[in-house]
Amino acid sequence: MAEAFRFRIREHGPAGSPVREPFTPAAPSPGWVRLELKAMALNRLDLWTTQGIPGFPLPLPLTPGCDGAGVVEAMGEGSALPPGLELGGSAMIAPGLSCGVCPACLRGDDMLCPTYGILGHVHDGTAATHVLVPAANLLPIPGNWSFEQAAAFPLVFLTAWEMLVHKGHLRPGETVLVWGGGSGVGSAAIQLVKALGGSAIAVVGSEAKAMQCWDLGAEHVLVRGDLKSLAGKVRELTGKRGVDVVFEHTGAATWATSLAVCARGGRIVTCGATTGRETAFDLRALFAKQIQIRGSYMGRREHLWTLLSLLQKSPTNPPFRPVIDRIFDLAEYPEAQRHLEAGTGFGKVACRVA
Ligand SMILES: [Zn+2]
Repeated sequence: MAEAFRFRIREHGPAGSPVREPFTPAAPSPGWVRLELKAMALNRLDLWTTQGIPGFPLPLPLTPGCDGAGVVEAMGEGSALPPGLELGGSAMIAPGLSCGVCPACLRGDDMLCPTYGILGHVHDGTAATHVLVPAANLLPIPGNWSFEQAAAFPLVFLTAWEMLVHKGHLRPGETVLVWGGGSGVGSAAIQLVKALGGSAIAVVGSEAKAMQCWDLGAEHVLVRGDLKSLAGKVRELTGKRGVDVVFEHTGAATWATSLAVCARGGRIVTCGATTGRETAFDLRALFAKQIQIRGSYMGRREHLWTLLSLLQKSPTNPPFRPVIDRIFDLAEYPEAQRHLEAGTGFGKVACRVA
């Protein structure tokens, strides 16, 4: 058997600073399982976790990586696997961990659990050959997807689904502005907007990314540049009305524009702050246009099963799929982090365990 290894954040540093070390994978506790990972996928959270978040101390040393897929290798005492899974079979991971017994968990709002935490952020994650997760966090891999595709799916699709359906209350026929259409979560949102009967106006940084947004089903694609003229174009495309939902994850740099292009009665849903976490805005725009601002963080684990059942309905022509920009070898995880930070790719960055 090849040597087991993992990447560790021993102290916070720049993207690419986690250090490789050999380790002995532990036996799973009761209710938990051990997965031999075949692939993992990166998220912005890998970078935040590596760099450190002011005012939010993380339990170092820590293995980053929220998303992963592999083979169920060992089960803790009393662990039961979700439907469709078996010991020795393949599975993908739902990255949100919660207690399972509090009122929020019991009503299915596991992401509101007081102990809620994401794998690779407050628990050792998937930048490793093996990972421990609660059995309840496993899901079957859809159809003939590769391990890389399975690893690239859960976090961004769960996040985008929660933002569009449950926070944004997107209705068929409505229009959504998707910032960062070339990002992992943006490329998921474009596809889900279409699957839900809406129209996506995607914003991207370059012409090359525009083509790929068309392919994913965006109704319109705008190449970023000057934000004032971008706002003008959005108003033009929507008959001066603005968009019904703004899919925000970019933060300070785009916030004022998000407010400006949001229609009366529209919703701005945000799950990130890539360009900065502090912003000021004109309250008159908020109340006069009766805009709702909703914060969103991950989503109900149950809704990953909803997404899986939507995929099962049309296996030959799936309504959405993870978009993979590039696959690294797991040994190159630090390089994969730097590639993600550079922001030049389209879609998800994944690592294959050789
Ligand atoms: Zn709970």
